[in-house]
Amino acid sequence: MRPLAFSCKAAKASNGRVRWHRCGDSVAYYTNHYQGPPASTFRSHLRKSASTSSKTKHPPNFSFLSTLSFVYISQYSQDTVYFAYSYPYTYTMMRNHVTALTAEHPNTVKTSTLCMSVLGNELPLLSISDFASSSPKQYAVVSGRVHPGETPASWMMLGLIDFLVSAHPIAVQLRRRFVFKVIPMLNPDGVINGNLRCNMNGFDMNRCWSHPVPNLTPPVYCAKKLLKMCQQTNTPHNPVRIFCDFHAHRCSKRIFFFHFFQLLCVFPNIVVDQRIFLYMDAIILWVLRSGCFPYFYLNAVHNLYSQIVVSIIQQR
Ligand SMILES: [Zn+2]
Repeated sequence: MRPLAFSCKAAKASNGRVRWHRCGDSVAYYTNHYQGPPASTFRSHLRKSASTSSKTKHPPNFSFLSTLSFVYISQYSQDTVYFAYSYPYTYTMMRNHVTALTAEHPNTVKTSTLCMSVLGNELPLLSISDFASSSPKQYAVVSGRVHPGETPASWMMLGLIDFLVSAHPIAVQLRRRFVFKVIPMLNPDGVINGNLRCNMNGFDMNRCWSHPVPNLTPPVYCAKKLLKMCQQTNTPHNPVRIFCDFHAHRCSKRIFFFHFFQLLCVFPNIVVDQRIFLYMDAIILWVLRSGCFPYFYLNAVHNLYSQIVVSIIQQR
């Protein structure tokens, strides 16, 4: 939980060589006695909706806030110092990356708009594939940053996209076999405004996959529509092979997956190709070896993933 700092004077004195770096001593992170809002505002919203048809009363699910304290001694007087929870990755950085990709790889990357956010910010949708090849392809859908505070998810997304458009033999094979639908940033409003988990309507959109509401949680609603469209476009024997949502975790380190294999006993007709996980392993290994990320880990949350898969199956 060591924070990051960016000293304007240090950056200027070093001609930009000193950037974001870990800082602080006596770091402590603990639950305090201040009561916060209900743990899930969206669940409360659903409960209110459900209460019209059910007389069951649910107690409010209150949680307590947390405190992060640390000591930081500035090297310079009259300095401006910014602090961050993890290495920043902004909406502008994402847009610049997408623009550069489209210009550099016009035959591999196609860009469109998934939807507009609540505040009117555009959510880019990338399609990455070997579009010159007419061989039948399956879909792989990847998204990230539904939780805006989890910037390592964006660094992972950056590495994944750069790998998928590269000349690496595995990337070439992947482009021949798949159309990758990539949503780099599901919660741009939260990223721009510095939210940790919620969108600008106060909803944790990662808890909205079961019942997304178009005007309250448009990115998740449209992402689910995209998944459904991909599922319906392909034949029943050629479904969406994987949906992977990138997160980061404040405690868990390195990279790990949660996946929906446990659902196989409930839904035996799900087609699961374990090779896609091997491909993902290869990608992650490549990202690790590239060494270009200061700090990252990946977490595809199994509850969310299961929820999405179940929802898609039910809608078919
Ligand atoms: Zn998350």
